Amino acid sequence: QEEINHVRNQHRIHVYGTDIPVPIVTFEELSSQYKLNPQIIKNIKAVGYQIPTPIQMQAIPAMLHRREVMACAPTGSGKTAAFILPILHHLQEPRKDGLRALVLAPTRELAKQTYLEFQRLSEGLGFRILYINKTSSFVNKSGAKASRKFDILVSTPNRLVYLLKPNPPLIKLSSVQWLVVDESDKLFEEGKTGFRDQLAAIYKACDGHSVRRAMFSATFAYDVEEWCKLHLDNVLQIYIGARNT
Ligand code: ADP
Ligand code: ADP
Ligand code: MG
Repeated sequence: QEEINHVRNQHRIHVYGTDIPVPIVTFEELSSQYKLNPQIIKNIKAVGYQIPTPIQMQAIPAMLHRREVMACAPTGSGKTAAFILPILHHLQEPRKDGLRALVLAPTRELAKQTYLEFQRLSEGLGFRILYINKTSSFVNKSGAKASRKFDILVSTPNRLVYLLKPNPPLIKLSSVQWLVVDESDKLFEEGKTGFRDQLAAIYKACDGHSVRRAMFSATFAYDVEEWCKLHLDNVLQIYIGARNT
C-alpha cells in the first residue's frame, strides 16, 4: 500500500472512490496482470509509447475493472489511449453484434483524431471503426444496417442525436457496452443544458446492456463532477496534477 501511495504521489495521481484499482507503471503489466491481447501491446510499442502517462496508469486499470470513471488530466497527457486500450480489451475481437463502444467528442476534428488513434492501437485486430464524417452520406450509403457492420463509433453528439431522432432511428445503439464522453468539460459548458439532453437521449438509446460510462476532461469542471456523482455507478474520480478541489 505504501508503494502504491508513493507511485500516486510521484505522478500526482489523485483518486477518490471505493475499491480503487492499483495503478499500472508499465504497459507490460497489462499482459501479466490483465492478459491483454499481445497484439495490443505490440501496437502500443509500435506507436512509440514506452511507459504509461499518469492518467493511463490509473484510468486503464480502472476501466479494465469495468469501473465507471470521471477522469481529469491536462491536454496532451494521453487521455485518448487511456480509454481506447481498455475498450479494445473488453471488445476482444470484431463481432457482428452491432456497435459495442461509442465515443463522443465535441468537434469533428477531435472525433477524427480519436478515430485515427483507435486505428493505430487496434492495428491487426480487425475491428471495424466508424467515424461519421457526413451524416448525409452515412444515411444515403449505409442506413440503419450500417450500425451492425461496425464495432466502434466515434461521433459528435449532434450527428448522433440527428441519426437517433427518426422513428425507427437511423442508427442502433442497443449493443453498446461502453460509452465514453471525451472533453466532457467542453461538452457540458456548450449550451449548458443542451448537451445533457443529448447525452440523456444517447444513453437511452444504449438500452441493451448495462452500459459502462467514462467521462474524460482536460480541466476540472464542477458541472461534470456533479453530473458524474449523480449519474455514474460507484464513480471513481481520477485527477492528475495539482490538487484543485
Ligand atoms: P489528451 O487527450 O490528454 O489531450 P492525447 O491522447 O491526444 O492527449 O495524447 C497526446 C499525445 O501524446 C499524442 O500524440 C499521443 O500519441 C501521445 N501519447 C499518448 N500516450 C503516450 C505514452 N504513454 N507515451 C508517449 N506518448 C503518448
Ligand atoms: P452537419 O452535421 O455539420 O450539418 P452533414 O452534412 O453531416 O453536416 O449533415 C447532413 C445534414 O444533416 C445537414 O444538411 C443537416 O441539415 C442535417 N443535420 C445534421 N445534424 C443535425 C442536427 N443535429 N439537427 C438537425 N439536422 C442535422
Ligand atoms: Mg483528448
